Amino acid sequence: MSRRRQIYEGKAKILFEGPEPGTLVQYFKDDATAFNNKKKGTIVGKGVLNNRISEYLMMRLNEMGVPTHFVRRLNMREQLIKELEIIPIEVVVRNVAAGSLAQRLGLKEGTNLPRSIVEFYYKSDELNDPMVSEEHITCFGWATPQEIDEMMALGLRVNDFLSGLFLGIGIRLVDFKLEFGRHWQNEEMRILLADEISPDNCRLWDLQTNEKMDKDRFRRDLGNVAEAYQEVARRLGILPEGGPRDLKGPAVMQ
Ligand code: UDP
Repeated sequence: MSRRRQIYEGKAKILFEGPEPGTLVQYFKDDATAFNNKKKGTIVGKGVLNNRISEYLMMRLNEMGVPTHFVRRLNMREQLIKELEIIPIEVVVRNVAAGSLAQRLGLKEGTNLPRSIVEFYYKSDELNDPMVSEEHITCFGWATPQEIDEMMALGLRVNDFLSGLFLGIGIRLVDFKLEFGRHWQNEEMRILLADEISPDNCRLWDLQTNEKMDKDRFRRDLGNVAEAYQEVARRLGILPEGGPRDLKGPAVMQ
């Protein structure tokens, strides 16, 4: 795959040492997991699509002033990113009741929320990413109050921007998960948006039919997972003619 030194391997991506200090190469795999690793599979071509979708969304966010770790896409499956110190908090923004929120509070999936909600989860596979409050985050030193404010403000800006962008292509942005990290430059620290933004960590529903166009198709065995990701890319206008070169056709193997 690559001769570069591997820094970290996660469920959907691998990080390699970058070409210069302070950079990393983010490689997108076709592997998919759900329910804290209990369900595993491969969505053929997912890595190529998520690399492209995340590149596009991060570039658009950068343009409107949301600082991100994205530098540039290198090839079909890899992008160059800035090396960050990842804050161990998942920031979830919700517009519509779905998933764990619908379950926990007994809400009907699809109910519009009176206003957008920001939630925090502690990144820990062993603990199954428990939901935490600002009190927990500051008490255990995972982030400072200022960093929490910054993550919330950026989360809401990302939500406003992406909600509009997806609405324009007939997609409802139900919820999504963001990760942030600290970046130092000339003694100054800035919080940057990290990780990826793709159908792996967003809920995207077709505006007309409510059909799911995201990882719930994999989680809930709805089929046509790769087709749904491809349709998101197509509507964003970033699917090359004939589809990505090493996209061998949609399939889910478990
Ligand atoms: N999410 C994610 N990674 C996680 C947990 C959640 O990307 O480890 C995303 C998920 O795809 C959805 C949103 O965050 O878009 C909210 O997820 P939820 O809390 O409803 O949990 P889930 O139903 O995914 O277990």
